[in-house]
Amino acid sequence: MAAPDEPDPASFRAQARAWLATHAGPYRPSASPDLPSVVFADAGDPTWVDRGRAWQAELRAGGWAGLGWPEAYGGRDLPLALRAVWAEELSVAGMPPPINLLGETVVGPTVLDHGTEVQKRRFLAPILEADELWCQLFTEPGAGSDLAAVTTTARRDGDGWVLDGHKTWTSGAHYADFAILLARTDWDAPKHRGCTFFLVDMRQPGISVAPVRQMTGGSAFSDVVLAGARTPDGLRLGDEGAGWAVATTALRHERLHLGLGLARAGGSVERLLAEIRPRGLADDPVVRQLAARLVTEARCARHLGWRMLSLADAGAGPGPEAALAKLAAGRVSRRWDELADAVRGAGAMVRDEYTPAQLWAPATRIAGGTDEILKNVIAERVLGLPAEPRTDASMPFRDVTRSDRPT
Ligand SMILES: Cc1cc2nc3c(=O)[nH]c(=O)nc-3n(C[C@H](O)[C@H](O)[C@H](O)COP(=O)(O)OP(=O)(O)OC[C@H]3O[C@@H](n4cnc5c(N)ncnc54)[C@H](O)[C@@H]3O)c2cc1C
Repeated sequence: MAAPDEPDPASFRAQARAWLATHAGPYRPSASPDLPSVVFADAGDPTWVDRGRAWQAELRAGGWAGLGWPEAYGGRDLPLALRAVWAEELSVAGMPPPINLLGETVVGPTVLDHGTEVQKRRFLAPILEADELWCQLFTEPGAGSDLAAVTTTARRDGDGWVLDGHKTWTSGAHYADFAILLARTDWDAPKHRGCTFFLVDMRQPGISVAPVRQMTGGSAFSDVVLAGARTPDGLRLGDEGAGWAVATTALRHERLHLGLGLARAGGSVERLLAEIRPRGLADDPVVRQLAARLVTEARCARHLGWRMLSLADAGAGPGPEAALAKLAAGRVSRRWDELADAVRGAGAMVRDEYTPAQLWAPATRIAGGTDEILKNVIAERVLGLPAEPRTDASMPFRDVTRSDRPT
């Protein structure tokens, strides 16, 4: 049941729509608003970060940032269902999400769950104001799907930690001010019990960031090398050796956000469908079939997303249904890409505003958990099939045979 002062979904939607009709920030409506805005980072536009900060400041001033955060930390304490309504309206209006998306959807909620009061007071407000932008230093060349296999090492030194290692695919690292980091603090413990979670200042000499140029033309992510980087013990989130639980919280919030993202798919789909008739393709059997498949799968994905959000609002999630929802969302991106090709025909070879979204579509099968890993989760936790053999979970991490280490 809604809290007495909580808006009902219809009036909340009307408020969101009215606000978006008069506030476009530094943007014009986009044909593919559902792309994470980081896709365009460094795409030859040096003003990109400034415009992203300005848009987030406008959202914040209008009361549209931190919708799910507690009021005590600048949020509005709204349930996920209303946050999904907002995401949908943002998509329909053709507007991008805030630049500090990771900060707002993953870092802030994880700090709220595991942080000390000092950490909350220090970090939460600058996230909503976009004064400090965040990135996520989890994946490594030898630890992606198997994230608990991280080898980046944090070593105690006085009242702080020294960090050495190599992270990769770090979205937004080249403009981030701070990072969340999963590092190994005990090589003799089993892999899940030897990790610790830290907040790290990215603007220090021990951290070098090399942006990776992608086929979208942008540089959404970077390779990050930590060589003698430092972070004070006061920026450890959770207990030493308890980093896996904190990382799991962060991944849970990421999956919830992906559920909200599902609600966003509407804007891109509707815009593409609207192009079919003016181009004289309404009777083209291939276009019709692809359009029907896209609409059907988009609706299924939307319902899976809403189911996940309702369960989470009721305190029951996100469970394995989040894997289903994310799998479905990725497929919708790829169906959208197929239809965009068919609708644009030879025009698809010319770079236009659809191009970044089309070139981005393949990434949706990897980011936030690959399709294969999600299928494993569904097989084991939804269908109850036998679990994959995991022989290294209980042995000291030091003894685990790895292809990137001599035996
Ligand atoms: C757009 C994008 C943004 C990203 N942003 C970030 C970020 O900001 N921060 C961050 O830390 N990381 C980020 N990543 C990294 C992402 O989390 C990893 O790419 C992902 O977890 C997969 O890890 P990997 O690339 O090491 O692939 P691997 O884990 O090496 O997998 C390689 C292949 O093997 C398959 N595979 C692996 N294990 C199994 C198994 N047990 N069963 C069946 N198949 C398996 C995988 O499905 C995949 O097809 C991003 C990735 C993308 C694409």
